[in-house]
Amino acid sequence: MTDYNQTFIDLGYIVASILFIIGIKMLGRPERARTGNLVSASGMLIAIVSVMFECCLSFEWVIVGLLIGSVIGAISARLVQMTAMPQMVAVLNGFGGIASLLVGWENYHSHPDSNLMIRIAVLLAVLIGGVAFSGSLVAYAKLAGRISGRPVIFARQQWINLGNLALIVVFGALLIYHPTGAFPYVIFVLIMCLAMTLGIFGVIPIGGADMPVVIALLNSYSGLAACAAGFIILNNVLIVAGSLVGASGLILTGIMCKAMNRSLGNVLFGGLGATAAGNAATVQGEPKPISPEDAYYILEAARSVVVVPGYGMAVAQAQHAVRELGEILENNGAEVRYAIHPVAGRMPGHMNVLLAEANVMYEQLAEMEDVNPIMETVDICIVIGANDVVNPSAREMESSPIYGMPIINADRAKTVMVLKRSMAAGFAGVDNPLFIGQNTRMLFGDAKATVQQLVTEFKES
Ligand code: NDP
Repeated sequence: MTDYNQTFIDLGYIVASILFIIGIKMLGRPERARTGNLVSASGMLIAIVSVMFECCLSFEWVIVGLLIGSVIGAISARLVQMTAMPQMVAVLNGFGGIASLLVGWENYHSHPDSNLMIRIAVLLAVLIGGVAFSGSLVAYAKLAGRISGRPVIFARQQWINLGNLALIVVFGALLIYHPTGAFPYVIFVLIMCLAMTLGIFGVIPIGGADMPVVIALLNSYSGLAACAAGFIILNNVLIVAGSLVGASGLILTGIMCKAMNRSLGNVLFGGLGATAAGNAATVQGEPKPISPEDAYYILEAARSVVVVPGYGMAVAQAQHAVRELGEILENNGAEVRYAIHPVAGRMPGHMNVLLAEANVMYEQLAEMEDVNPIMETVDICIVIGANDVVNPSAREMESSPIYGMPIINADRAKTVMVLKRSMAAGFAGVDNPLFIGQNTRMLFGDAKATVQQLVTEFKES
């Protein structure tokens, strides 16, 4: 390859890297997120084309891969429901992990005696990629309800994980110093199996409410594995893209830990005993159901209203009806705010995206820290399909699996109106004493249908 061609390829890599960074930056604001996605995707296209010019792979295979990947990506993006997005992200993290693992395996298979730096990169790609792959599949199964979201705990689990990690370190050291031959190959395969076992055993004990942290962390792992793969094939753009995903995943993990008021160590190791299935105290008491007509009379008199949206609003796709109800309440003289919990829904920013889509004014959105201090003065707090994020046992019940998680203090409003279909628990599987509170009224039904009924009551009155 001439120096001239190489300069163009390097330029392609630099442009792709810059587009990734700009794309990620744009994802920070809902109104620019769509364009940000396109910018990042263009960066990826430029990166792929540059790779095609640089490497000796035959073009046909890269194009076939590009087409198959694009078709699968486009179809899934159209078919997957918004509420199933977290599962999709988990699967994509897993694919990233397995791709890096396979790059490492292929390199070891073809060049077992490559230099020290590459050997270390191969081990890291296989270890982190394996953990990201199997851990993400478990996270997918939990989020999709294929397996229970409750923590799965067995005796000496942490010791088994520690032993597993120690074995990987010992085998890895052996492989680095004696990389060739049949025995080292067996050890290499063992390392892959141990890494995948570590991913499974690392994620199954983590339950319900802590899943946002796990998804962010696995996202970061898939990026770090890709970065290691970049060192193996000496590809700068893969190193840059992997580092970006790894770093942004770590930042998100930090944000999620803060939102849950937990340290990362506590999520991964510390909370196991406390979150054991069956530890949750059950809540005794009778709920007070009301009809949409009763709810109308309560709302009609309200002067300050806080709406707390949750996963159920996303399932019901009730955001447009909620915005319409909010406008009606405002026209009726009430001040209306929307209190957003950082882990409400099933992905970071889930509620912000839905409310922005429904054209709820940005200024009406309030963060948990801002709304909690004034909750006692709020006439009505309408909880729409939220459960864990308004569960007072997180604040008061030490035996609760979600104890310590910050919540929106909906129970402290003068009246609480909860819109959901039944008394079923939320994602963490924990009973919610809010639903039987003295000042709580339950408005049972699908959130969209119920909110639309309220809108009709106002219009007809
Ligand atoms: P929850 O999952 O705790 O509760 C949602 C509630 O919505 C359920 O109790 C359900 O009750 C109700 N619901 C479901 N469908 C409808 C419908 N059509 N109409 C009305 N209600 C409905 O949601 P929250 O938002 O309160 O909490 C999010 C949880 O998810 C937290 O535990 C969080 O840690 C976890 N999580 C968050 C992630 C994130 O990044 N945000 C990622 C992964 C997990 P019913 O069936 O009775 O209607």
